[in-house]
Amino acid sequence: MQPLTPGQCKNLRQALDALAEELRIQIERGAAGARPVALDEPIGRLSRMDAMAQQKMIEATRRAAAQRLERVEAARQRLRTNLYGRCASCEEPIGWARLKARPEAALCLACQQEREGRLR
Ligand SMILES: [Zn+2]
Repeated sequence: MQPLTPGQCKNLRQALDALAEELRIQIERGAAGARPVALDEPIGRLSRMDAMAQQKMIEATRRAAAQRLERVEAARQRLRTNLYGRCASCEEPIGWARLKARPEAALCLACQQEREGRLR
């Protein structure tokens, strides 16, 4: 795998900045929508269950966004310390194609698959 060119690095830096912004907005919106249903709210039993199911979904989405934001922020930190683009496990370049699809990736594809294989 080839190391990143300065142009690719700049491209990914911008992608990470945009991603962080987008996730932050998503989390804020989720937080507003994930307020607990007040029990004395004059809504029917069914619609209350709907509202609770919807809140669970919003909460799951918000949590996933928060976790991704953590990875994005870690990637931005690696950019500042020039560790970005190298696998956190084997230290080989992660590769442009993978980083373009997933700019927050900390592992190369081989190490990621190995890690997932171990979890299974
Ligand atoms: Zn690796």
